[in-house]
Amino acid sequence: LIEVTGLKKSFGTNEVLKQISFSMNKNEVVAIIGPSGSGKSTLLRSLVNLEQIDGGSVQIDNDFLVKDGVYAKPAEIKEVTSKMGMVFQHFNLFPHLTVKQNLEMAPSLRKTESASEIEKRSKDLLQKVGLSEKANAYPSNLSGGQKQRVAIARALMLNPDILLFDEPTSALDPELTGEVLKVMKDLAEESMTMIVVTHEMGFAREVADRVVFMDGGEIIESNNPSEFFSNPQHDRTKLFLQKNL
Ligand code: ATP
Ligand code: MG
Repeated sequence: LIEVTGLKKSFGTNEVLKQISFSMNKNEVVAIIGPSGSGKSTLLRSLVNLEQIDGGSVQIDNDFLVKDGVYAKPAEIKEVTSKMGMVFQHFNLFPHLTVKQNLEMAPSLRKTESASEIEKRSKDLLQKVGLSEKANAYPSNLSGGQKQRVAIARALMLNPDILLFDEPTSALDPELTGEVLKVMKDLAEESMTMIVVTHEMGFAREVADRVVFMDGGEIIESNNPSEFFSNPQHDRTKLFLQKNL
């Protein structure tokens, strides 16, 4: 479903992603872990075209976003990126819109569904994330965990094939992480394809099909969770796990 080859990205002279190659299948859940500054966010942002890469290829579902460093035409880029939804650490909800309006905004602009269809789906998705009673609340009146659940529902409104999460629980008080991880776990059980950048080792171990460890702009190691955690191959992985488990 996703095929990344030789992805390179620098900010000025700082080479942040060094020839990353990575692929994943439909229905897979991949957890990306690694130290701060290793390039995890930049990799996710590159996939959804929030960062422009300097070289390599990104292919989603047979369509290229970038092929050998050359970007597709705008219409194709839109087509490719519309298959992905992204959930950020800091929620990025629209503060001046209610929960319901946050969910319905993007699909309304897209104009492929009637208002009543959109309304039905937003109702269903709010129920799914346990926030039916907050439909008319504003983000400022929600807890962090509730905001993040709204952000997940909002991403799902566009029916993405792949959901990308960038440290979805890192901005939350510890007692609120569970409710967000639960929603993500439910999605995994429904076979949603997901890439999750996370510090939650428990989530990586229990929910992910594969764990990818990044350091210094490279993928150092990638394995199924039980092998990854019980038998890390690389010294840098071992060191990271010693510090973070
Ligand atoms: P963290 O765990 O702290 O979120 P990360 O693995 O997500 O880290 P990135 O945010 O991808 O790391 O950053 C990788 C490197 O790229 C860092 O050295 C960072 O300073 C640099 N960087 C990221 N975004 C920019 C930017 N917009 N301009 C310049 N440098 C950037
Ligand atoms: Mg990051």
